Amino acid sequence: MEVLGETICPYCGVGCRLRLEGDRQQGRPHVARIRGVETAAANLGGICAKGAQLGPTLDTPDRLTRPQLRLSRHDEFRPADWDTALAYVAEVFTNILHTHGPGAVAFYGSGQLDTETAYLATKLFKGHLGCNNTDSNSRLCMAAAVAGYRSSLGSDGPPCCYDDIDEADLVLVMGSNMAEAHPVTFDRLRAARKRRPDLRLVVVDPRRTATAKAADLHLPVAPGGDIALLNALGRLLLLQDAFDEPFVARHTNGFAEYRRFLLAQDPGELRAAAGVSEADLARCARLIAAARAFLSFYCMGLNQSTVGMWKNNSLINLHLLTGQIGKPGAGPFSLTGQPNAMGGREAGLLSHQLPGYRTVEDPEHRAAVEAAWGRAPGSIDPKPGLTAVEMFRALEKGQLQAIWIAATNPAVSLPDLHQVHRGLACARLVVVSDAYHPTETTRRADVLLPAAQWGEKAWTSTNSERTISHSPQLFDPPGEALPDWQIVARFARILGYDGFSYSSNAEVWDEFIRLTAGRPCDMAGVTSARLRAEDSVQWPCPSPDHAGSKRRYLDRRFATPDGRANFLPRDHREPREPPDHEFPFVLTTGRLYAHWHTLTRTGKAEKLVRREPAPFVEVHPDDAERLGLRDGELGQLSSRRGTIQLPVRVSDGVVPGMLFVPFHWGDLFGEGNAANYLTISAIGRVAKQPELKFCAVNLEKVMTGAEVVPTPAALCGR
Ligand code: SF4
Repeated sequence: MEVLGETICPYCGVGCRLRLEGDRQQGRPHVARIRGVETAAANLGGICAKGAQLGPTLDTPDRLTRPQLRLSRHDEFRPADWDTALAYVAEVFTNILHTHGPGAVAFYGSGQLDTETAYLATKLFKGHLGCNNTDSNSRLCMAAAVAGYRSSLGSDGPPCCYDDIDEADLVLVMGSNMAEAHPVTFDRLRAARKRRPDLRLVVVDPRRTATAKAADLHLPVAPGGDIALLNALGRLLLLQDAFDEPFVARHTNGFAEYRRFLLAQDPGELRAAAGVSEADLARCARLIAAARAFLSFYCMGLNQSTVGMWKNNSLINLHLLTGQIGKPGAGPFSLTGQPNAMGGREAGLLSHQLPGYRTVEDPEHRAAVEAAWGRAPGSIDPKPGLTAVEMFRALEKGQLQAIWIAATNPAVSLPDLHQVHRGLACARLVVVSDAYHPTETTRRADVLLPAAQWGEKAWTSTNSERTISHSPQLFDPPGEALPDWQIVARFARILGYDGFSYSSNAEVWDEFIRLTAGRPCDMAGVTSARLRAEDSVQWPCPSPDHAGSKRRYLDRRFATPDGRANFLPRDHREPREPPDHEFPFVLTTGRLYAHWHTLTRTGKAEKLVRREPAPFVEVHPDDAERLGLRDGELGQLSSRRGTIQLPVRVSDGVVPGMLFVPFHWGDLFGEGNAANYLTISAIGRVAKQPELKFCAVNLEKVMTGAEVVPTPAALCGR
């Protein structure tokens, strides 16, 4: 057995560095064992079951090894060579661009894509095609965090680092089941608490998750009650004079308005909306007031909401109020769900962004990027393009005619899947670049482009704590598969554009980092040569002799024009689809330890599948009893958008009136039973992030023979 090399894990945003051991046969690896790299700052040798089971996901029978196309969706795919496939895509794109303009095409990427690809897709679509319909699935998980950081602190990007766990004496985990979704970072938190029993853990979650079970204090917030809870805590801290007056005076704006806003709130109404007892709120406020260093982790539970940005603002308000930011062990720390959600944001792969945390609306930002790309002034459209959910609505309406989907599976992961499928069916051209076929999305495509994945390409990514990492190519891609950045560059050249002839991903990277110089995410000092020598560096890192930055805002100067952070008072009355007589339950969706996203990889690792073989709906024992449902029996869930049937898992992990369904399983694992057939595609006004954690549903028992016994909603007692 030999060491095959090291790579960053292609799953969650923890960004664990993994060492692969095994042997090679004809350029392809047989991976016998995967371990965490002890010297890697992100994981210190840690690894979870998903990372450890990457080996079986490499050479599966469904690897896409050649481009394929079909002229009608009724036909079978036929293999094609790269030139033919890309020339066909170029011809249809060019035709649509000439006839309907750049607003009729789109690129929908992913936090799975490396930074090089995110940068080149942005350069091609926004810089050369004049098309800002260039978004990614980070819109589904991180857009609210981006908007929250920008509005409160002046810039996207977390201020904190993983080492802050060792410096904090209070950790608040809110809207994150870290123990399952970011397990290695949670293991580090557990270990820190073992070493330092005075390190307190508060978990805010409507579900009693594995993370909540480990807490000193679990606040079972009512679904949709996050802002009320945060406002209630802020109000208590104000009333107790437990706030950092000098910090607030010197480093923030808007305190007087925030104070007025909170003191005018009715505490009883806040408590009722939060669904948390007065005693628990008071205990939490006392812990925050007494903390020397207060660190908060948050993720999809805050972000996946039409008011996700407001939730982020409300949490950051608490850090500003207590001066718990810009110092070791403190700050609001947004965890990313994907390996390179951060890098995509840095490279501009959201429909309002340009490289270096620039925006398309800002004339100076556009001018700087146009000059760097050698494009004429005015080449970049000043209007943000369509975002993830909007793209699929526009496809159905015929406003959007062609879409290129890269490294993601929207036919499972987007809300209101019936609408998504209608949108894809209406599209004139659906191009999917992916490592696998079939997926629920490739089944609906016209052109398939085989992508090399982790280990098969050299790539660069940024994890949750701003650490940029280089992963070398360890083995050859299967068949004719190519790295995504090469596919995009080749397509750009076929379209006739100069400026896309790169000999390596290192060349792409070095071009990209020049566009970050002087920006908040400055990585001008992180050259490809340095990354290859040092493996990882944290931004900001403005020059080659700069060591990188573990933490931001240590000088208490924020990225706003006057250097002060903003208090942003937010109302707790969140707009929602409320439960009613017809749909009396609240459905929330989420993730499980054994799986990642839509199972395109974890569904192929036998050991992971054995842990969690099938989807289910978690139902509180009181509700189960009222509906006559027992563990394992089939329940039918309906919302205004669809109906699915799943086995019931009776559990007091959810509160009465609430149901939980993991979102991982799509149609390949049981036609029509994905959680997102039920979810609502409402999106936030600014962040445009969809509401994946809250919609109204009904639950009924399915009798043997698939006869559904309707259960009057009144029986649910609501
Ligand atoms: S899934 Fe996340 S925690 Fe697990 S090994 Fe990969 S990066 Fe680390």
